[in-house]
Amino acid sequence: MKKVLILEDEVNIRSFVVINLKRAGYDAIEAGTGQEALDRIRENPDIGVAILDIMLPDIDGFEVCRRIRANNKQIGIIMLTARTQEMDKVTGLMTGADDYVTKPFSPAELTARIDALYRRLGADVGVDLEILKQGPFVMNTRNHTLEKSGERIRLTQVEFSILKLFMQNPGRALSREEILAAVWGKDYDGELKIVDVNIRRLRIKIEDDATNPTYITTVWGFGYKWGI
Ligand code: CA
Repeated sequence: MKKVLILEDEVNIRSFVVINLKRAGYDAIEAGTGQEALDRIRENPDIGVAILDIMLPDIDGFEVCRRIRANNKQIGIIMLTARTQEMDKVTGLMTGADDYVTKPFSPAELTARIDALYRRLGADVGVDLEILKQGPFVMNTRNHTLEKSGERIRLTQVEFSILKLFMQNPGRALSREEILAAVWGKDYDGELKIVDVNIRRLRIKIEDDATNPTYITTVWGFGYKWGI
């Protein structure tokens, strides 16, 4: 799932943003201070977009932006600005940010900006460490290839997307709903069974013994988990 950091010290605004990010299918990571934001970014290198408030109790948002950019050229950054702030000052200080949204903003406006930024930065932003290596598996997310112990395994587009999702979330139980939303899109209203059907095929291709799977294990009544 695409991760978005929201740095905002006002709890009401932050919760409002979090609810709307989740509704839009994003995984929201929260921070209430500049330092917390920097910590969260360090702990979650796969955050694709960060939304930064400017007026904060510790470090101001522009400085947070500068520090994030110093180590991360890829992340998308959106500043939250107040209407009262002079816009030329804001844009002057915005070096390093990709976009800004003026408060008060509508949830639709904010998520549209995040979506646009994600599109602009490329679908794989934040998680495009092009090569994923885990156990015997080597996945190249750019040219969509998978090898197991040096042998090429041919996957369909959907199987590849599911496996990529697993390899990006090792050890984490993923619900069938979550897999469906991530691979087929959150507007897809087909049946959950399609997930099971594809996992069954994927197991035949990648497991040593598909009847006794060890990489993709079933989490009963919930979904699946990837482990090496
Ligand atoms: Ca604030």
